[in-house]
Amino acid sequence: MNSIKHLKQPVDPLRVDTRSAACLKAFRSSDRGQNGVSLVNTTKLPDSPDNKASEVRSTNYKLRKVAQEILGHHHRVHSCNKVPSYGVQKLGHSRGISKNDENRAFFHGMASCGDVHCCPVCSVKISEGRRQEVVHALRSHSESGYISLFATFTIRHSRNDSLSDNLTAFRNARSELISSRQFKEIKRKLRMTGYIRRLEVTWGESNGWHPHDHEVWFLDREIAHQSGIEFIQSEVHKLWAYYCKKHGLGEPVEGRGFDLRYKNKNGSHAVGAYLTKWGHELTYGHTKTVNGENRYTPFSMLHSLSEKYNPKISALYQEYAKAFKGRAQLLWSRGLKSRFGIEEFKDGELSERPEKVFVCNLDTQQAFSISFLNRYSSVLDYAERYSPDATLKYIDSLKSESNSILMKNFKRRRNSYVSNMELSNMLDAGIYNDYIN
Ligand SMILES: [Zn+2]
Repeated sequence: MNSIKHLKQPVDPLRVDTRSAACLKAFRSSDRGQNGVSLVNTTKLPDSPDNKASEVRSTNYKLRKVAQEILGHHHRVHSCNKVPSYGVQKLGHSRGISKNDENRAFFHGMASCGDVHCCPVCSVKISEGRRQEVVHALRSHSESGYISLFATFTIRHSRNDSLSDNLTAFRNARSELISSRQFKEIKRKLRMTGYIRRLEVTWGESNGWHPHDHEVWFLDREIAHQSGIEFIQSEVHKLWAYYCKKHGLGEPVEGRGFDLRYKNKNGSHAVGAYLTKWGHELTYGHTKTVNGENRYTPFSMLHSLSEKYNPKISALYQEYAKAFKGRAQLLWSRGLKSRFGIEEFKDGELSERPEKVFVCNLDTQQAFSISFLNRYSSVLDYAERYSPDATLKYIDSLKSESNSILMKNFKRRRNSYVSNMELSNMLDAGIYNDYIN
């Protein structure tokens, strides 16, 4: 990551001064071998089927670090897992590591940022929770004998469009469409009782930002004929084209702006295939580009930046973070969650749900070393594979590693200060003794 030199320096949450350039440089060099290959998370672990999961986790922590550097310390991602949670600060709860029933380790008592759009670590936790809710709703819907359709809304866009402006126009056009008399009529004909909507965006070299909505439409009916679906698709497309134009988005051509499916061309259930793809992203992580093209998802931008710094991609990620701030990732139409008996959780709550099996507590110093060296994922790997004692021993080795980096930087700063002053000046100033000892 030495290519991200110009980026904002990390601010240490525990107020140890890590802000000097020398310290930052040493911090970076400590992560890297002689060839500039990252040494972080290369802890040797025994082979196991869980290795893929821990590899993805390790990548997510690495990507979070990139996001933190790009978005700077004013962004909430910057403090993710660096400060003790409210429970630790005010209610006397402990901070440490715990595991769930499936032996997956988690940190507890470390405040997560809960930013589903910008934080790759929180996003996976929140998305997995959200996905399970959708799966649950669909299962109980189909157990009632009913079907669901997969709808996609897109807009026309070009390279120079602002993402934020397009998102706002997109949202306004869609909500006007949904509340229009014509759409309500279509809903009635379809016997559509609700929808779940997920907002996504990709960026491509040729056409810029591509925001799109994937939606699951819940119909209280048992069958849908292809010809009926095509008819509804064309009706909704006409409406969508009208509202896009009204909101200055340009009229989408037929077959582009709106797509409605029950089954895919290969015969698979369209909603099911989408949920599988979504699950695949969570299990296997984010690839560098989309479909091998020069097109990125926000997290694949981070992936690309972790390999090679590119100011354009970095600026795009900042634009994305700004444009998505405060927007919901997943929206359920009113009443749909309660229909399937799903509780409402906020994003932050989902990323902080308590785990069951206690592993160990962490003191301030230990928590600081993990954060300072960004070794979250290797600590969790240890907790999953070895005893609590061995895990603590590993964490203590991090403590001495981070201390020696801090000490080295302290000395380096002191030496550069000394060399900048002439000895005689120092003697005159009476500060020589402070530096000679
Ligand atoms: Zn986070």
